[in-house]
Amino acid sequence: MNNKKVGIVGVGNVGATLAFSLAIKGSCNKIVMKDLREEIVQAMALDISQAANASKSKTVVSANASDFKDCDVIVITAGIPRKPGMSRDDLLLTNAKIMQSVFSDIQQDNPNAIYIIVSNPLDAMVYTALKVSKLPKNRVLGMAGILDSARMAHFIYEKLGYGEGKIDAKVMGGHGDDMVPLPNYTTVDGKKLTEILSDEEIDEIVHKTKHGGAQIVKLLGTGSAYYAPAYSTSLMVEAILNDTKEVYPSAVLLEGEYGYENIVAGVPVQLGSKGAEKIIELDINEKRQKEFANSISSVKELTDTLDSKFFV
Ligand code: NAD
Repeated sequence: MNNKKVGIVGVGNVGATLAFSLAIKGSCNKIVMKDLREEIVQAMALDISQAANASKSKTVVSANASDFKDCDVIVITAGIPRKPGMSRDDLLLTNAKIMQSVFSDIQQDNPNAIYIIVSNPLDAMVYTALKVSKLPKNRVLGMAGILDSARMAHFIYEKLGYGEGKIDAKVMGGHGDDMVPLPNYTTVDGKKLTEILSDEEIDEIVHKTKHGGAQIVKLLGTGSAYYAPAYSTSLMVEAILNDTKEVYPSAVLLEGEYGYENIVAGVPVQLGSKGAEKIIELDINEKRQKEFANSISSVKELTDTLDSKFFV
C-alpha cells in the first residue's frame, strides 16, 4: 500500500463507484470525497469504508471537508447531465461553471495534485479545467479513452465469441460520436484484428463502439454508465499514484502533437507521478487521420463557444 491520498469531487454514480473500487482494491492510503449533497456523501463514505473493512483493505474513506487537502490525485466527476429543453451549449456552460467553482473551492489546499477530469463534455471540461486552474498540461487530464477502448473490446468479443481478457483495443480522439477507434492497433491474443475480421465486420464494431454509451443511457432510462467509467478511472489513478509509466489513452492538451495546437483530445499518454508524462504519437493511416480531424473539429466547436461565452 502506498501512502497516497485521492480526492473525489462529485460523488454520484461514477464518483461513488470509483471510491468503492479504489477502496476495496486498497489502491491508496486515503480517499476523501466531496459533493454538494452533504448527507449523501457522508452516507457513501460510511458505506464504502465498511466495504473496505469487509475486504480487509487498509484504505481509509472520509467525507470530512477539512480532510480535503494535500491530495496526490483528484478526480472531478461533478456536473449535470443534459435535461429536456437544454442545448448542448447550455450543458457546456453549466458544467464549465461547476468546474470553475470546484477549482476555486479546492485548488489552494491541494497544491501538488494531479487532476483527472471525468465530467462531460469531457474534452471541453479538460480545457476548462486547464484554463481556470492555470496548471501545466501534465497535471490536468481526462478519462474517456480507456472506457471507449473497453467498449470496443467488449464488442469485439461479442462478435468473435472468444478472446475474453485477451483483447487489446485502442480508441483515440474526442469523447463523442466521432471518436476514432483504431482497428489497425487492436489485437486479439496478440493477433491483429484486421487479420481476423472483414472490413464490414470491423465497421460494425466501430459503429457500436461510438454508440456504446448511448446504448446504456437508453436502457437505463435515467443517468449514464458508471461501472466501466469508474473502473477505467481507477486505472489512471493507480498508474499516477504508483508511477507505473503505463500508456493509457487520455484526454490531454495537444501542443503540436498529431499536428494540432491548443486543443484537447484523447491520445495515448504515458502516466506517472507527474501525471501525463509523455504523449505517444501513433502512426495512423489517412482514413483515421481524417476521422481524427473531424473529431478535433467537434471539440473545437465547444472550446470556441467557451472562449467566446465563458472566458470573456
Ligand atoms: P451523477 O449525477 O450521478 O453525479 C454527479 C454528482 O456531481 C452529483 O452527486 C452532484 O451532486 C455532484 N455535483 C454537482 N455539482 C457539484 C459541485 N459544484 N461540487 C461538488 N459536487 C457537485 O452523474 P454521474 O453518472 O456520476 O456522471 C458524472 C459526470 O461524468 C457527468 O458529467 C457524466 O456525463 C460524466 N461521465 C463521463 C464519462 C467519461 O467517459 N468521461 C463516463 C461517464 C460519465
